Parts: sequence; structure tokens; C-alpha cells
Amino acid sequence: MISLSELKTLLATPQKIVITTHHKPDGDAMGSSLGLYAFLIQKGHHVTVITPTDYPDFLHWLPNNSNVVIYTEAVEKSIQLVSEASLIFCCDFNTLSRINDLGEHIRNAEGLKVMIDHHLDPEDFDDYRHWNINACAAAQLVYDFIVNELGEAELINKDVASCLYTGIMTDSGSFRFPSATSNVYRIAADLIDLGAEHWRIHQLVYDNASENRLRFLGHCLSNKLEILRDVNVAIINVNAEELKQYDIATGDTEGIVNYALSINGIKLAAFIIERTDKVKLSLRSTGDFPANEICKKYFNGGGHRNAAGGVSEKNLPDTIAEFKSILPEYKTQLLQ
Ligand code: 5GP
Ligand code: MN
Repeated sequence: MISLSELKTLLATPQKIVITTHHKPDGDAMGSSLGLYAFLIQKGHHVTVITPTDYPDFLHWLPNNSNVVIYTEAVEKSIQLVSEASLIFCCDFNTLSRINDLGEHIRNAEGLKVMIDHHLDPEDFDDYRHWNINACAAAQLVYDFIVNELGEAELINKDVASCLYTGIMTDSGSFRFPSATSNVYRIAADLIDLGAEHWRIHQLVYDNASENRLRFLGHCLSNKLEILRDVNVAIINVNAEELKQYDIATGDTEGIVNYALSINGIKLAAFIIERTDKVKLSLRSTGDFPANEICKKYFNGGGHRNAAGGVSEKNLPDTIAEFKSILPEYKTQLLQ
């Protein structure tokens, strides 16, 4: 580990910096990464954001998006950038398995690794850690890092503010989860003062669906929603054929699980989807129910108490059956 003053000394002279984030980046992954990018370039660093995979179109408006390198589309270039970097910032993830093949390149890289994250159980691969499980978003921690650790609040310009606002807005469910504390609202207010146009960001992220996505949502709600009243669980499942039929792109399935959770009395919602190489589960819960525990114990995953995910080696019907078979174990908590 290095100290904050050692990190500050390093950041005082131009460095080659890589910023990376998790597989299938969401609003917080891209918001925290590009927010940090927009901050660091003002200090004269050579900075590249590398994502392990592509990410949804509704995030492509983010400032400096055109400079992002997608690992799967530029493997050699990404490997070179990682190997040449003196500093590697890891935003919104804390185990290298969350960044696929890029993980081993980062593990072996000589550059110092800085983790900025809010997930449980961080892996020990970093040299400096700005980690807080209570933060609503990694973007909140980037704000805190810039303002309180580096003392450089004056470098939060409109680009930085817009990116960080996006991360906080998306990961806090538009400021509605318990993690959206009064302090988060104060940070959001500060970001608005610094140039984030909250109404425009909301529109760009949430009112930007394709016709396909809306029709697909209709299909999921009309035909694929199963409600298990005896355990207060709702499940939506989607197979590969349906994804093809509705021409579903990265990000189009985002948020569908929340409709299942919005049903009166439902404590746990699952969105189970057949991807090309695996079956993926997205769980959401209300109150104290630990969705992350189920993902960790049974589906090689994890996440937060109320929003977690994992994968299954089984096919779609068997995964659904396995998920249902686990529920009796949690019945008491589900009926509370
Ligand atoms: P989502 O359901 O939106 O894919 O993921 C919700 C949250 O669950 C993410 O923010 C992340 O913390 C966690 N998560 C999702 N998939 C995985 C996974 O495969 N492994 C782990 N460890 N966490 C995951
Ligand atoms: Mn996050």
C-alpha cells in the first residue's frame, strides 16, 4: 500500500494513467470513470479509460466518451496501455474477475493500482484504496477523492460534474435508495452548481429507449412474469430467441427487474436471462433481504444487499428451477 501523500506526489507530475471499470459498464461505472478522466486530464496526465466490454448507447453522450477504448475491440492496444501505465484506477469494482481477461493484465501490470469502489469484500490487488461500502455510487467516492483527499474541488468542471452526477443518479435509483443520504443530496446539489444539468442527464439516460426495448418490456411483463405469492418473489426470464426476436442490445434489459420488484408485497425480484455463453441472474430486493447472499452462495456472484447478480453454468430452465428451489431456505425472511 502507498500513502495518500505518495499518491499526491505521483499525481503532481504528468503520468500515463489507465482508468478501468467493470464488465458491461453501467451508469456508475462510466460516470465514475469518465468523471475521474475529465478531472485528471486537467492536470496534464495522459489518461485512457478502458472498459472490458461495450456498454449501453444511453451512456454514449457522456463527455469524452469518444476517447474510451473497449478492450474486446482493441485487445493489443489495451494491453499496451495497461503495461505502460504508471497508475491504474479501478472504478466501481473490487475483484479482478469483474473485468474478465483484462483482470490478469492489470494484476501483472507494474503501475500502481488505485481502487475506488463501494462493493463488499474487496480483493487485495490494489496499492491505494478509496473504498466505502456506504457510498451510494463509485462516482460519489470519486467526488470525495477529488474534494476531500486531493483537495482539488476547483477542478470539478462541467464535464466532471455531469459524469459524477450520472453515476450517483443511476446507482442510487434516482436518489431513492436508502444509500441516497442527505450528504448525497448535498453532493448532487454541488454538482448541479458546478454545471451538471440534472434534468437533461435524466432525460438522456432514462428517456432514451428504442421502440424495441419498450415492446420487449411489454412482452416481459405480459408473458414472462411469474409471481410466487407464497414466498413474495417475482421472476422474469428471457431466452436467447426472445433477445434475437426483439433485437435486444447491451443495456436494453437494464432496469426490467425493477418492474417485478414494484409489485405490491414482492420482496425479491429476479431477472434471469440466457446470454450467449451463460445464464445471468439479476436480483433486487427490498428492506433487509440479502439478495447478494443468494448470488454469492449459489450463483458465483455478489453485489449489494438490495441489488446483486451472478451467473449459472446450467441452462435457463434448470437455472430457474434451481433459483426456485433455494427460496424455501429464505421463506421466513421473505414473508417478514
Ligand atoms: P445487475 O443486476 O445490474 O447486473 O447488477 C447489480 C449489482 O450486482 C452490480 O452493481 C454488482 O454489484 C453486482 N453484480 C452483478 N453481477 C455480478 C457478478 O456476476 N458477480 C458479482 N460479484 N457481482 C455482480
Ligand atoms: Mn456502482
